[in-house]
Amino acid sequence: MAEQESLEFGKADFVLMDTVTMPEFMANLRLRFEKGRIYTFIGEVVVSVNPYKNLNIYGRDTIEQYRGRELYERPPHLFAIADAAYKAMKRRSKDTCIVISGESGAGKTEASKYIMHYIAAITNPGQRAEVERVKNILLKSNCVLEAFGNAKTNRNDNSSRFGKYMDINFDFKGDPIGGHINNYLLEKKKEGFSFFHSPCLKLLFVQLLQGGSDQMLRSLHLQKDASAYSYISPGSLMSQTSLSPQCSINDGAEFKAVADAMKVIGFKQEEIQTVYKIVAAILHLVTSCFCGELQRRGNVVSIIADLLSTKSDMVEKALLFRTVATGRDVIDKQHTEQEATYGRDAFAKAIYERLFAWIVTHINDVIEVKNYDTTVHGKNTVIGVLDIYGFEIFDNNSFEQFCINYCNEKLQQLFIQLVLKQEQEEYQREGIPWKHIDYFNNQVIVDLVEQQHKGIISILDDACMNVGKVTDEMFLEALNNKLGKHAHFSSRKLCATDKTLEFDRDFRIKHYAGDVIYSVTGFIDKNKDTLFQDFKRLMYNSSNPVLKMMWPEGKLSITEVTKRPLTAATLFKNSMIALVDNLASKEPYYVRCIKPNDKKSPQLFDEERCRHQVEYLGLLENVRVRRAGFAYRQTYEKFLHRYKMISEFTWPNHDLPSDKDAVKKLIECHGFQHDVAYGKTKIFIRTPRTLFTLEELHAKM
Ligand code: ADP
Ligand code: MG
Repeated sequence: MAEQESLEFGKADFVLMDTVTMPEFMANLRLRFEKGRIYTFIGEVVVSVNPYKNLNIYGRDTIEQYRGRELYERPPHLFAIADAAYKAMKRRSKDTCIVISGESGAGKTEASKYIMHYIAAITNPGQRAEVERVKNILLKSNCVLEAFGNAKTNRNDNSSRFGKYMDINFDFKGDPIGGHINNYLLEKKKEGFSFFHSPCLKLLFVQLLQGGSDQMLRSLHLQKDASAYSYISPGSLMSQTSLSPQCSINDGAEFKAVADAMKVIGFKQEEIQTVYKIVAAILHLVTSCFCGELQRRGNVVSIIADLLSTKSDMVEKALLFRTVATGRDVIDKQHTEQEATYGRDAFAKAIYERLFAWIVTHINDVIEVKNYDTTVHGKNTVIGVLDIYGFEIFDNNSFEQFCINYCNEKLQQLFIQLVLKQEQEEYQREGIPWKHIDYFNNQVIVDLVEQQHKGIISILDDACMNVGKVTDEMFLEALNNKLGKHAHFSSRKLCATDKTLEFDRDFRIKHYAGDVIYSVTGFIDKNKDTLFQDFKRLMYNSSNPVLKMMWPEGKLSITEVTKRPLTAATLFKNSMIALVDNLASKEPYYVRCIKPNDKKSPQLFDEERCRHQVEYLGLLENVRVRRAGFAYRQTYEKFLHRYKMISEFTWPNHDLPSDKDAVKKLIECHGFQHDVAYGKTKIFIRTPRTLFTLEELHAKM
């Protein structure tokens, strides 16, 4: 529990609520938001509400107030969590992680930046050059990744799906010596719109056009005037995906910031050049349409060929034909206009994804920990920071929401395992009376999605494996057949009387956070995510070594390609399993971000929207477990070791039958007996206040 400020700001820790009910939770959350107290604890979890205005609470003086302090000594803040994770890492050599979740626009990325900023500020007192280098790169990498993976748009739900996990490695002194970034990128493809309407790409183009020098733009065959590209001009038909006006103001400056950041990170001049060539090539691809014959667009083809360091005729061929192997024969089959458009879109998307992945790999190469000798320097410890989308429910939910919500089921399962289950099990082991807390264990939903052979992803992959034309309907049919009896799955066909399932193409998953209805439309295509082999070979044969490196599988000729590439859902599943395994090995800290309204207003607290988020994040359940629990526990031996000097009965030694008896004596002589429980091997202290007082007594000795 946090140090209480005046109660006019509400309760600094939800654990202090009189009753654990939604109305009381909401009232406290609202009061604190309105008083500008955007952070509130639930034990060691920080709940954050996006203030949508700049608060003067992240400066040097605030950092100093949190540095080295115990979590509950100061008002709730991200810095308190960052410091707790850092201390656990440094004092106890624990790998820790900070999981930041919430919906789009809730303040996750900002929170992760403040946390990084805090860690950067409190480390490397000796100003070691190598540590400074690493810190600098870690901070700059954000700027580059955001330029390529994020977009500031009017409507945040339009921004690209982008989850980031960053490990920061520390040496025995507690200074950052390296790191590693993982990205979970999921582009949102709206029905009827191609990937090109991703605001993140558009922003990149606008930045490039506004910030690139004349000479550079000329070499990229681009015109400075953005209006030449109907595709990115704000008044374009795709109004719902056009950029917010405020974005364009300093895109020129942003472009330079990104270019500088790339230099700092260590991208070579040719590499930066290649990055912009690729971005320009994508823009040109967008403008090449197939309505007329490609011949008339010959100019565009040669530009693309030039930018990608390949030959015009090869580009043209890859766009209009695909090579197919029929038995022993290899033939060139001409695309229909529809196929050509599909191929072009898939190609542009793939170039972009490979570029992004390559940038990440490049950053990782530069910050990877090298030459760290654990036998000499001790353990190399890690703090992981995860910035990832929360549960998502739109009016229309498709493959992307399915993936994101599955990811959140995984994270909830981890939370359950780490916090709820572990707590309860420990009390049981220690023989501490424990009022059993009923919580919903969502493993059953995780299984529904990911189980081998029986789960939705397996069923989807099976459907995609079918030769011949596979439709989304066939996939839904397979779901109905195999999951008809599953308590968390239903569809219109299975449940015709259910009015919420309006359409034949809908299916519903009962998620831990609520019911979500998905439309199967697009599942097959998005999962297959096919890119014609011809494009891979085209890029592999580029004379630009960077491009070539991005496309290693283009090496195979048509007759050599035997393995199907993994599907999008399976790739995503594998990355989620790896992520959760990684997090499970660490001591977790949580930041739960809430978006107060959809208008970016610093005043408005939209009760309904906020309540939904509190539900999805499982915050009430979290409070219940915390309240039933104990803030601190320690073995009798270790506890005595630390505090024995504060009691005459235990200092310098005790003559009681056991350490447990000695601890009892010590606790009683200070009058704390009502706030503790004695387990078999450990003492449990309910409120942090008691521990705090013990620490003060200890410090006075
Ligand atoms: P998310 O990553 O969850 O989608 P962001 O972190 O990008 O959301 O936040 C969206 C916007 O909200 C930011 O661009 C910023 O304007 C505002 N914001 C978020 N957190 C804060 C904060 N702590 N203080 C001030 N503004 C914030
Ligand atoms: Mg973000």
